[in-house]
Amino acid sequence: MTKTTPMMAQYYARRQEYPDCLLLFRLGDFYELFEEQAEKVSEVLGLTLTHRGDVPMCGMPYHAADTYIQRLVSAGFAVAVCEQVSPVGESALVERVVTRVVSAGTIISDDKSAGNNYICCFARREGEVGAAAADLSTGELYVKTLPAANAEPQIISFIDKYAPSEIIFRDDFVSSPNTVKFAEENGAVVRWLNPALRQLFENDRSEIAARFSSENAKQAGVAEDSAAEYAACTLLGYFKYCRKREPVHIRTILRDGGGGTCELSHTTRDSLELLRSSRRREKKGSLFWVLDRTVTSAGRRKLQNFINAPLTDTEQIRARHEAVAAFVSDVAARENLRDALRGVSDIEKILSRVVYGASKPRDVIALGVSAAWFPTFKNMLSSADSVLLRQLGERIPDLSETAKLIQDTVYDPDSDTESEQYDNKTVIKSWYDSRLDNYRGLQNTSNEKIAEIERREREDTGIKNLRIGYNRVYGYYIEVSKAQTKFVPQRYTRRQTLTNGERYITDELKKAEDEMLSASAEIDRLEAEIFETVLQNIRENMDGLRDGAESLAETDVLAGFAQVAVEQRYCRPEMTEEYGELDIRGGRHPVIEKRDSVFTPNDCRLSVKETRMMVITGPNMGGKSTYMRQVALCAVMAQIGSFVPADSAVMPVFDSVHTRIGASDDIFGGKSTFMVEMTEVSEILKNASRRSLVILDEIGRGTGTCDGLALSWSIAAYICQKIGCLCLLSTHYHELLRLEKQIRGIRNYNVLTGKNGDKITFLHKIVAGGTSESFGVEVAKLAGLPDTVVTRAAEIAGNLKRSNVGNLLSKSAEQKSEQNETAALDSAQGVLF
Ligand code: ADP
Repeated sequence: MTKTTPMMAQYYARRQEYPDCLLLFRLGDFYELFEEQAEKVSEVLGLTLTHRGDVPMCGMPYHAADTYIQRLVSAGFAVAVCEQVSPVGESALVERVVTRVVSAGTIISDDKSAGNNYICCFARREGEVGAAAADLSTGELYVKTLPAANAEPQIISFIDKYAPSEIIFRDDFVSSPNTVKFAEENGAVVRWLNPALRQLFENDRSEIAARFSSENAKQAGVAEDSAAEYAACTLLGYFKYCRKREPVHIRTILRDGGGGTCELSHTTRDSLELLRSSRRREKKGSLFWVLDRTVTSAGRRKLQNFINAPLTDTEQIRARHEAVAAFVSDVAARENLRDALRGVSDIEKILSRVVYGASKPRDVIALGVSAAWFPTFKNMLSSADSVLLRQLGERIPDLSETAKLIQDTVYDPDSDTESEQYDNKTVIKSWYDSRLDNYRGLQNTSNEKIAEIERREREDTGIKNLRIGYNRVYGYYIEVSKAQTKFVPQRYTRRQTLTNGERYITDELKKAEDEMLSASAEIDRLEAEIFETVLQNIRENMDGLRDGAESLAETDVLAGFAQVAVEQRYCRPEMTEEYGELDIRGGRHPVIEKRDSVFTPNDCRLSVKETRMMVITGPNMGGKSTYMRQVALCAVMAQIGSFVPADSAVMPVFDSVHTRIGASDDIFGGKSTFMVEMTEVSEILKNASRRSLVILDEIGRGTGTCDGLALSWSIAAYICQKIGCLCLLSTHYHELLRLEKQIRGIRNYNVLTGKNGDKITFLHKIVAGGTSESFGVEVAKLAGLPDTVVTRAAEIAGNLKRSNVGNLLSKSAEQKSEQNETAALDSAQGVLF
């Protein structure tokens, strides 16, 4: 057995403190991993596995560690970085402590990625589930309280909304495997908090909670000792635990949904392809793709927030429309503003780097440039023809002093005019601090002195290729080639022997070196000191900078809405005061019209008093689903403040939008297509209110015809009569056309299809009246089914239409019972509810 050395004992102690992490243990210029962690990492990163005695080891050079850490984090690991904190050689064993833990949701990179990186936490307490989502890189924190009974769909919806890269469940949280599966399939690393950490965060809880004002906590719906408080505090505790510093840039708790937002379930967001296309899971093909004409990263994130949370307050919606209208009509204002916004950096992300000491001078310069633009924006917005824009302008603070301080102090290597005066590690400009200028002068003199020594030594010794060089280990030296060493005078002291020459030092050179090094050390110290004052000023103005950043992000989104509205010919929707009137003229599907550039517009008129439900029939590929989605998208677009793809639109404010579109199995969850469909419909029936919009695309298809028909009938009747909301329903069950006569508020529509011989053309026009033509055989032919199958199917279809379906296929008992059920359905019409 190998004896445990003091260093390994130290290693084991650190491992024990961070049991859930890979421990990168600093040894000189390397980070090392040992034992099974070494084996794991060498496999994941493809690094060589070595051995010390019989202990497996795997190392990476410290300067390349960031890339490796990033790869380990992407592979789902949490990495604890253990540094040497006492100077080497002062004691027998160098002191080592973990200085940061990096995980998917706590990584702060300086890359320019625009998106959010959320981490979520769920906590359970007395009949409630607290959900929290935070982004350490931008300082946002959202919370929501969910009822514990049947919380799963809402937890899944929360996860879907924030798309976190990491999720923390407290160890006392009972989560269903479906939630975990959903989270992992959507790219999140799922972690269970160990009891020790939970205890640690719990001890800090009241202190953490005290950081937010009671008014803020109340507004966000976070009561003392509530599940939401536990979830939020766990995240904040986790940030501190990982980064070893308080996340002071997280200043406010925001209520998820903000109190007044239109509910969109995760299936609705998914099927309406709001942020990602459902097939490829990418931005292209989504509503976000169409609407994103923002010019800043913060604007892009804000747009995603807008899309995730359509408003329900009519006045707020109108205020956004008014702002967009102002930008639509004043082209110059819009263009000037968007041009100026291009010069603004990602302030929120830079601030989080400032908090964590990870900010580079370049970040600070960018911040200064952005703050210097603030007055211009304020000015531009102050004269806007919109109350909201003027308010956004007023929220931008005057931070000219911070901007000037940064401009006066921090050296910008990218600005050509200054580059000659400085070396490549300069941080602070000349003329700002006389002490710094003084040392720089000394450094220059020493430099000149060394050059002078080199010139003089060549002359005195007659060695032509004598040169003075510098390296980190030996400092300054005089280098002489082998052949010339015989000419070296006595006063030279040898420092290092090379294959081709020797290196020496003289008293004079040593003295110049000391002067040079002490000037350099003073320069470094002063530069760090001045840079720290600048950072301190930024930290003091953090609230103002955040306010400015928020305002600009929102302005960017509104100007972007105007840009799309102009390019795509959208109209300003009129939001009705009275609920229940929807009138879209010449409506289009925003994504398909952008993708295909030709699109047949359609009207849609719904009213709670008259037509609250449209039953739409027509062939597959006719355009039913597109039509229904475009109405739902129009509603979402109007409520996020965008103009809508139509000639004109009168819209009510919906409190929720529900869609059931498309069929998919949930094999993992052990649910068939039909089961998934019924579960989703059941959620809709439970959650929809009179002020909802419901879209149902061909429900009841995955089961026997009679059951499917009966269910569709009964669901339609329930929505129309019990819930009473606006609804669009497409179906192939022509029997449902009878609903129009049975239930007030239901009207039949169909998509027009032209037929010439056996050729059909889809006209994509929605017209009043039902159709019993499915053109199923024709569509199957288009899909390339073998001719014989198509011909035979056409014959059978002809026969079926001529005769009674039940009689023709009569013999089996099953069909008989279907017939009976259809008859029974007839007798039950209209009295279902
Ligand atoms: P259905 O739901 O009736 O099977 P879809 O709505 O899926 O049909 O439409 C099929 C395709 O037809 C769409 O992908 C789109 O390319 C095209 N389409 C639908 N509606 C229109 C329209 N109004 N104008 C132009 N093309 C359309």
